[in-house]
Amino acid sequence: MSLQQNDKAKDLPQLDIRLCAPRGFCAGVVRAIDAVEKALNLYGAPVYVRHEIVHNRYVVDSLKAKGAIFVEDLKDVPDGPAPVIFSAHGVPKSVIETADQRHMLAIDATCPLVTKVHREAMTHHKKGRLIFLIGHKGHPEVIGTMGQLPDGAIVLIESVEDAQAITPPEGIELAYATQTTLSVDDTAEIIAVLTRRFPQLHQPPREDICYATTNRQEAVRIVAPQVEAMIVVGSPNSSNSQRLRETAERYGCPKAYLIERAADLDWNQLSGLKSLGLSAGASAPDVLVDEIIAAFAARYNVKVETVTTAQEDMFFPLPRELRSPTPI
Ligand code: SF4
Repeated sequence: MSLQQNDKAKDLPQLDIRLCAPRGFCAGVVRAIDAVEKALNLYGAPVYVRHEIVHNRYVVDSLKAKGAIFVEDLKDVPDGPAPVIFSAHGVPKSVIETADQRHMLAIDATCPLVTKVHREAMTHHKKGRLIFLIGHKGHPEVIGTMGQLPDGAIVLIESVEDAQAITPPEGIELAYATQTTLSVDDTAEIIAVLTRRFPQLHQPPREDICYATTNRQEAVRIVAPQVEAMIVVGSPNSSNSQRLRETAERYGCPKAYLIERAADLDWNQLSGLKSLGLSAGASAPDVLVDEIIAAFAARYNVKVETVTTAQEDMFFPLPRELRSPTPI
């Protein structure tokens, strides 16, 4: 550091940054992004991706620059040899059927932990049970899970009020499943209502909220009461990122913001801080966290301390179609 830089650092106010760990990319997101990159390497551009491969604009823009084309509907994919990849959130069965009918080279990057929920739902359905799916209406993962079964087989429960109001037909067995990226606390409240009202309700053999969602919320829960403000790096359509921001508020952080890039930081809201918590949703790359730290370092004399609440070593292999690729 030069003498001038040293003097500048002395003039800046001190800021303690508590960096949550785990944060950022989960195993399902790494696998989905790797799937698009591997498909681009194997087949060349373009590679079509149905829906944002993961909910992060930076990731999507980076893949677009490499030759990925994102579409919302298979009808926007022209006939031809280019592969089409289904996003980490999963797809309804009807999408897979359409791809088959059109003889598309389809690569399914659905996170294995979402597929696990699909399988549970199908098992309950085979046993004649009505399924309550706890989740957010319109989220692609919920659309995908509900689309595994015929209409009416799954009832969406979005809130405690829904859990209190639902009146299933008499004499039918009941089960529940959840979206993988929900608030651990909100979901526990909804499950408590359902199990009180329906004591015979069948539960998932293992928690549906995934390890990455749970671990990131736990780190934010520990850091939130220790800091004056919390920044969660993530896109507004990222469910698990939104839940991290809410967790920070719930556990006592007075200012909690979800932002995509350093350019979104509102320095009027962030002036005069002495402590800051920092996390990132499961679809946000660490390069964006570094960008935020650099932006604070230009205005504060920052000290970064990592607060680790869990170790993660989860790994998912690439989709089967990319492990033994189909020649075109
Ligand atoms: S957040 Fe969880 S369910 Fe979603 S992609 Fe990551 S590991 Fe899979």
